[in-house]
Amino acid sequence: MAKDVVEILKEIGKVGLNADGSYTRNAYSKEFFQAVDVIKGFMQELGMKITTDAAGNVLGVLPGNKPELKHIIMGSHLDTVEKGGLYDGAYGVTGALAALFALKEKNIKLNHTVEVYGFNGEEDALGGTFGSRAVTGLIAADNKLLNEGIQTYGHTVEEILACKRDLKNAKCYLELHIEQGERLDEKKINIGVVSGIVGIVRYKVVAHGTSNHAGSTQMFRRKDALVGMSKLIVKGNELCKKIDPDMVFTVGTITCAPGAKNVIPGRVECCFEMRQLEKAKTDALIAAIKAAAPEIPDCDFTFEPEMYAPGVLCNPKIMETLQTVAKTNSLSYVVMPSGAGHDAESMGHHIPIGMIFVPSKDGFSHCKEEWTSDKDLQNGVKVMSGALELLDKEA
Ligand SMILES: [Zn+2]
Repeated sequence: MAKDVVEILKEIGKVGLNADGSYTRNAYSKEFFQAVDVIKGFMQELGMKITTDAAGNVLGVLPGNKPELKHIIMGSHLDTVEKGGLYDGAYGVTGALAALFALKEKNIKLNHTVEVYGFNGEEDALGGTFGSRAVTGLIAADNKLLNEGIQTYGHTVEEILACKRDLKNAKCYLELHIEQGERLDEKKINIGVVSGIVGIVRYKVVAHGTSNHAGSTQMFRRKDALVGMSKLIVKGNELCKKIDPDMVFTVGTITCAPGAKNVIPGRVECCFEMRQLEKAKTDALIAAIKAAAPEIPDCDFTFEPEMYAPGVLCNPKIMETLQTVAKTNSLSYVVMPSGAGHDAESMGHHIPIGMIFVPSKDGFSHCKEEWTSDKDLQNGVKVMSGALELLDKEA
């Protein structure tokens, strides 16, 4: 019997459901493994060979007609954030299985062997994209977070490092995901063909002013670091929009010293975060912010690079295939970057990747309001199964 994505998601929806309608399936939790069991049931129905690993991942392998061909991999994650939604992650796993059920119903047996992953720990625990990084060998042995965290889940670092697989037999990785933003929903576009997963650049920015008495220091004599930092943040915000509407700029942390109600702030530290596909764009933004800093009166600024996670581009040929399938199915589409990280990123460091987005109602995600219509879910699966057919014609 053919299994529709809505039907499969409904089964996952019985696991980790909170009283308020949100879902909690943390990494390695009882609820996470219940979701794995549900997925295993559907994998069995498809005739897949099922394995699990110490990183908590479940993998189903469906042998193709030609075992000598490289494997096509699909997947996403089965964990959620605390009080998250039904669709983030689970849609990618259930959608991949639904695409295989759709082919099975049409009596299409692919030449390529197909694999479907249900990854563990894509959300923040254990550094994020934990399961897919374990599989792709992107977890370093000296990873502090891993060393501290993994024992609490009953595993050793060695066991996690041993989850690394050889990707030489992999042709590509495809992932279905809800958009988690409002672009598609707002413009009523069916499909987002993802161009890549944006890189993240973070700078530690410090405003240096002078602390002094909040009562006796006249306004014109002040060197208030918080006022200066505020001006620089507003400037960064304006510059970001001007340089590239696809880039995002966020200041989410601030420390103000000495931090007393009756003292003018003398030192303010913030993290400036920028995300864009191209490093050149974030470089241009930070350069423009630095150039604007001396114009802000009464304080000096220092900038220190803190973190850089390079973005990953989707494969242009796979993107073309996805667009072709969308057109064939009379679905509207747009090429767009992903501002959020995904398991595809881990895979993208090794093999060609493609990602398909479907609309998120009002852009909500990581909350109980997260919702995608049945029709949109099915559209994504249509594009996935169509892409499998086309990619299967290649070597
Ligand atoms: Zn996700």
